[in-house]
Formats: sequence, C-alpha cells, structure tokens
Amino acid sequence: MTDILSIESEIKNSLSSLWREIVEIREEIYKVKKNSKQLCPVCLGHGLVPQGFYLYPPHQETYSSINASPEKCRTCNGVGIT
Ligand SMILES: [Zn+2]
Repeated sequence: MTDILSIESEIKNSLSSLWREIVEIREEIYKVKKNSKQLCPVCLGHGLVPQGFYLYPPHQETYSSINASPEKCRTCNGVGIT
C-alpha cells in the first residue's frame, strides 16, 4: 500500500517544479515585451488606414461606405509601430 505522505510530497515536488517553470516563462515574456516596440493603436501595425479615416469618425455610414485605396497612417507615419 502506498504511503499517503509520500504521495503528498510527490505532488508538492511536482507542483513546485511547475511553479518554477511558470516563473521562468513569465520572466521570458516580460523580457520580450520590454524589448518589443508597441504596435500602433490606430493601424494595428499595418502602417495603412482606409482612405478617409481621418476625415470621418469610425462607425459612421460614410466611413464604412468608403472603398478606396488605403492611405498612410498619420499616427506612426506608416511605420506600424510607435
Ligand atoms: Zn499607425
């Protein structure tokens, strides 16, 4: 018969190693986030916005009916990152 205490310590060991992995992953994510630049919130990294984007506010009928070539995003100047 297996000792219940040995099972408990086994679970605790595997849990603590899991936590160590989670902490390491979180640190990696933090490093990546710190180094990466922010995507432009206006064009979401595309560098382009629909033509008329700056003339008409979004969610207006005039805006959604515009069907022309996109223009350069003015927020990031077409780069896509800020
Ligand atoms: Zn942009």
